[in-house]
Amino acid sequence: MTKSYFRPEIDAMAGYVPGEQPKMANLVKLNTNENPFAPSPEVEKVLKNFNTEQMRRYPDPRADALRCAVAQRNGLEKDNVIVGNGSDDILTMIFRAFTSPDRAMAMLYPSYSLYAELAAMQGAKVIRIALAEKTFALPDDLLEQAKEANLLMITRPNAPTGNSFDISVIENICCSFDGIVTIDEAYADFAEDNCMELVKKYSNVIVMRTFSKSYALAGLRLGYAVSSKEIVEGLMKLKDSYNVDMLSQHIALAAYNDTEYFAARTAEVKEMRSMLKAELEKLGFYCVDSKSNFLFAMPPDQDGNRCFTGLRNEAVIVRYFPGDATGKYVRITIGNPAENARLLEVLRSMYA
Ligand SMILES: *Cc1c(COP(=O)(O)O)cnc(C)c1O
Repeated sequence: MTKSYFRPEIDAMAGYVPGEQPKMANLVKLNTNENPFAPSPEVEKVLKNFNTEQMRRYPDPRADALRCAVAQRNGLEKDNVIVGNGSDDILTMIFRAFTSPDRAMAMLYPSYSLYAELAAMQGAKVIRIALAEKTFALPDDLLEQAKEANLLMITRPNAPTGNSFDISVIENICCSFDGIVTIDEAYADFAEDNCMELVKKYSNVIVMRTFSKSYALAGLRLGYAVSSKEIVEGLMKLKDSYNVDMLSQHIALAAYNDTEYFAARTAEVKEMRSMLKAELEKLGFYCVDSKSNFLFAMPPDQDGNRCFTGLRNEAVIVRYFPGDATGKYVRITIGNPAENARLLEVLRSMYA
């Protein structure tokens, strides 16, 4: 045995595995919840008019123009907002700040598996709170299960299941939990409500958003978090100095301000979500009630792996999560009309 120079926590980690980005031709890619539409045309204008001479300068380290825009839209102040290189960057800050060998993290299961990897890097204990079968609802004793944790991660709407949780239940958790409650709202723009107002009422609450899904800017890497000024100030201490590049700051602001385009595209995705759900149900699928831009769907034979493989053989890529709680399902991102039609065509050949 040769000696490892890594910390034991790192040697013990498997590492997060992102959804694949295959390079096959004519691929129908419905596996990583990207938006089926292009980003706002304002994005292209920014790129065309960008004065590259500016780039020899460092970017604004705190991305204040974006912070002000987010604050203004939500009735908050700039000091309530922090911007990151994707919301994964925000998650890194949160885990560095609030987890350690004696500060545990509690998360829903199934949920976003990156949280457990980030906790492992910190040597922090992970408490997994199982959701109900089929409905993926929260358990009644969530607070009891989470009570030893310093950080509670709530994904709302949840991934990979797509369902949301009653906002009054979330509020009760925020006011009763003795620690930080982070609500990851990566998909909130596809839902009917969100938890922004809870930030104003409870100083231990962090709400996170990303431009990757609803703004169709996964390639850009832009996310932000909103919280009390004390928490934002603390997180600022441990972010990379220039964590958001200059181009991303300009582009994100332009996309954020094009509210009309955003509302129209988001409405279309939601409409296609109900159409797709109805068609899947006709084929005998069970679909979890989705408030996101994807469907968590159980095929009639309850074999998620067979569904995934059958689709993949026809160059339609969805996501399959092996395991007891998830292995009966596939997660299908809402595509554009042609992609959804092709998905249904292959599924009809398999299950009709
Ligand atoms: C996609 C996703 C993110 C990551 O967003 P980025 O801004 O692309 O890093 C965070 N949380 C959940 C639950 C997601 O699904």
